[in-house]
Amino acid sequence: MVIDAKITEGYVVLCDEHSEMHSFLIGSLGLSVECPHCGSTALATDLATDYYLSDQAAA
Ligand SMILES: [Zn+2]
Repeated sequence: MVIDAKITEGYVVLCDEHSEMHSFLIGSLGLSVECPHCGSTALATDLATDYYLSDQAAA
């Protein structure tokens, strides 16, 4: 699971569990993020770290 983008409404998260792609919007990062489509969970801190690291790499 990765954060695809940060928008004014929150974060767009991509879930690629179960060889499907699910995307969903979360208003804010709590302790964990749960995919509403398949129920997979990820630690929000891991998602945020990956997002900001990739953001810096792209800059
Ligand atoms: Zn999912």
